[in-house]
Amino acid sequence: MATLAMPTKKREVVAKSTRRWVYRFDEIDEVQNKVAESWDKTRALLGGKGAGLGDMTRAGVPVPPGFTVTTEACNAYLAEGEQFPDGMWTQAVAALKAVEDQSGKYFGDPKNPLLVSVRSGAKFSMPGMMDTVLNLGLNSEVAEGLTKLSGDERFVYDAYRRLVQMFGSVVMNIADEAFEDYLTEIKSQRAVKSDVELNAADWKQVTQEFLAIFRRETGSEFPQDPYEQLKLAVEAVFKSWNGKRAIDYRNAASIAHDLGTAVNVQMMVFGNMGEGSGTGVAFTRNPATGEKKLFGDYLMNAQGEDVVAGIRTPLPIANLERENPAVYAQFVDIADKLERHYREMQDVEFTIERGKLWMLQTRSGKRTARSAVRIAVEMVTEGLITRQEAVLRVTPQHVTQLLHPQFDDEEKVKAKKAGRMIATGVNASPGAAVGVAAFDADLAEKWGKAKRSVIMVRPETRPDDVHGMLASAGILTSRGGATSHAAVVARQFGVPCVCGAEALNIDVRNRVLTVADTVIHEGDTLSVDGSTGEVFVGEIKRVEPEFSRETQLRTLLAWADEFRRLDVYANADYPADARRAREYGAQGVGLCRTEHMFFQEERLPIVQAMILSEPNSAEEALNLEKLQHFQHDDFYGIFKAMDGQPVIIRLLDPPLHEFMPDHEQLAMHAAGLRLMGDRPNELARVEDLMHAVEGLREFNPMLGLRGVRLGIMRPALSAMQVRALFEAACQLKLEGVDVRPEIMIAVTSHANEVKIMRELIERVAAEVMAKFGVQIVYKVGTMIELPRAAIIANQMAEYSEFFSFGTNDLTQTTFGISRDDAEGKFLLNYVENGVLEDNPFQVLDEDGVGYLIRLAVERGRAVRPDLEVGICGEHGGEPRSIDFCHRVGLDYVSCSPFRVPIARLAAAHAALQA
Ligand code: ADP
Ligand code: MG
Ligand code: MG
Repeated sequence: MATLAMPTKKREVVAKSTRRWVYRFDEIDEVQNKVAESWDKTRALLGGKGAGLGDMTRAGVPVPPGFTVTTEACNAYLAEGEQFPDGMWTQAVAALKAVEDQSGKYFGDPKNPLLVSVRSGAKFSMPGMMDTVLNLGLNSEVAEGLTKLSGDERFVYDAYRRLVQMFGSVVMNIADEAFEDYLTEIKSQRAVKSDVELNAADWKQVTQEFLAIFRRETGSEFPQDPYEQLKLAVEAVFKSWNGKRAIDYRNAASIAHDLGTAVNVQMMVFGNMGEGSGTGVAFTRNPATGEKKLFGDYLMNAQGEDVVAGIRTPLPIANLERENPAVYAQFVDIADKLERHYREMQDVEFTIERGKLWMLQTRSGKRTARSAVRIAVEMVTEGLITRQEAVLRVTPQHVTQLLHPQFDDEEKVKAKKAGRMIATGVNASPGAAVGVAAFDADLAEKWGKAKRSVIMVRPETRPDDVHGMLASAGILTSRGGATSHAAVVARQFGVPCVCGAEALNIDVRNRVLTVADTVIHEGDTLSVDGSTGEVFVGEIKRVEPEFSRETQLRTLLAWADEFRRLDVYANADYPADARRAREYGAQGVGLCRTEHMFFQEERLPIVQAMILSEPNSAEEALNLEKLQHFQHDDFYGIFKAMDGQPVIIRLLDPPLHEFMPDHEQLAMHAAGLRLMGDRPNELARVEDLMHAVEGLREFNPMLGLRGVRLGIMRPALSAMQVRALFEAACQLKLEGVDVRPEIMIAVTSHANEVKIMRELIERVAAEVMAKFGVQIVYKVGTMIELPRAAIIANQMAEYSEFFSFGTNDLTQTTFGISRDDAEGKFLLNYVENGVLEDNPFQVLDEDGVGYLIRLAVERGRAVRPDLEVGICGEHGGEPRSIDFCHRVGLDYVSCSPFRVPIARLAAAHAALQA
């Protein structure tokens, strides 16, 4: 075949450029030398795909030979007004010669032709880049030669028509419909459903027609010169870097515009050479469960993208083990090699050509939380990675996902009996989702943002559906397997997904889903079990997950515990919370709110009577005594559950009116009683209550009579709490339980407040301990939740053995924002419009609130070096805030029991990444 006269040829002779624009896959070492072994720079120069192909070649994995034209060549081409830079083409031709030698086949040689693919590949994989063109090097003459050589005319013309189609649509921008319409037509003429049923003569005819379409659409012949095909394809890849979609994507994803794309030219291997050949995609371990077993889909007698294109339904890889044990064994071997090389689960593209397995791409595979944890733990056991690496590979989000609710098994059985299970599909991404059906991504997003739980229902999903998928509670499709777009995206983002539920008839246009005689309209409720693949109409109840059964997660968290410096406590108000917290790995209770105990039904009337009684009166004492019994039992339960661990108990915090009935309701009730006139005593009681409520009314209760202020104004109430607490402690001590109470004073702003309460606590504690003849070691400390308290932390520390940052209130008082008023009215808007980067009630505000924390820690420890400091706001379970707590030197974080596992991991990450 004659080489094209290249426009750059003249300059080439003059320049004799030594610059390298082209590297063969087996020259990866040279590239790395050149960029000082930096893998990042290797990827920048060769693109992700090219670097990966080189790296696999080096690792001894069977990769069809080929070469990469660098991203620098692309940039030079675009800078020089769409001219190949000096020397590039010569180098490419030389590299192709080397590939010819390696393969023993020759580009454009009808007697023994080499065919290649041209694949784009930037540093970061991104949409908008040119699609791959397969089978370059075929022309009418080569096709005839190849037919003789292979004895398989059907294969040859299937390959040739693909080339004309791909080259036409991808390189020459012919609308693909022109080709697809003809394919549909011929299949209906032949009365067949799928491509595989077409024979050699059919494909020959298709090829002729495609060549005609090419001529008609472009005004010129399909290039018969293989080198011209190659040149045009390479140029098209370069140009695609500046295509509109590529530019838009880079803008959106903040990818630099000057990276350029590389081009990979690679010897073709054929999955469409009959029944001993095939193609597929696979994960080296199960991306849903993590099981160490190949997982994926393949199609025999198919090429390239046929697997994901959904033309035929692919088979699960497990079939290959039965169908072709020899190939399967090769696969297991290669998977092993890849994993040992990358020390990570891989997602690969492969082709089987007449029984021989070839790898065409590898990258680390996206996976579910369950899979991530299992793989991390097992790779440590296998000696592939260290414990530190395993801990760092699992994210706090993974832990959140794993501890998501599941469907109640009994409820499912009932639903099945009631005929509510309408389909099963592929269990593509685990988890239990209940929501209303939405038939497109935009609606799913809209409803999702309006806080509706949505199941996005589509025949299949595409890249432009992702915004809707992210806003959905679950995803349901009727087409596609475990490696379909829906499945991959769902797993990556932890959205439960069932795909390929083929029984479902999804009519997107009319917005209904039908299956047998069930009709589901948009907005109807569905339940989707991504762990089993089951789909139900209506809602199925969910239950909390069982942490005790999560053995792998527990192993991983135990490793995390080895690395973290922060202790993790839990906020627990009841013994049951405390027990759960402990099971989840809490090392103490960081906040036990005593007021919750007051709200219980049988206690509230006593609490109200106590509030109504004159301070320091006999009536008050009587009611307090009743309450003390309840409090005693509560403390007893919590202390017992936390045997051997610290329990921080906060004395009463909220303003008293919170325990009283609503004034308006009382007024209405009183009006009714007055009208009837038959229950004077009840009327008197209600009127008393109304007066009391009026008396307790405050303009800003958050800043009113609460916390320590209340404790000082009603010392008998404080004394009751302290007494109950110490009596419980003493009793337990006698029973042999190791009790470690810490008493915490809330809403302090002046050191005298702490001083007064401390004296009260010490007095009552001494009385009780004397009565029981028992010594209890305890601490007294304060919350820091007002800016003044943080500023005079040195004074606070005089009377405090510990500080606990109540970051919810500290955020409110530092910002001067009332959370309940703010979130609905402006705060979320602030976040959406970028006034604030994050909601400060979710992610701790380091600059402001964090400054106060830093200051308080410093000043407090200056006075009392062994001061214990921790945080008990919701931020204590939020990974970024936990990182801050680590950096600022806190002793512990305390969060809700469910978040304890997350906090354990986040604290380890903070320590390992410091
Ligand atoms: P993408 O980035 O879209 O995955 P690829 O370049 O990986 O594009 O290729 C598209 C399809 O063509 C894949 O299925 C790939 O395995 C297949 N393919 C690419 N090059 C070859 C080749 N040389 N021989 C056989 N199949 C190939
Ligand atoms: Mg690919
Ligand atoms: Mg508070």
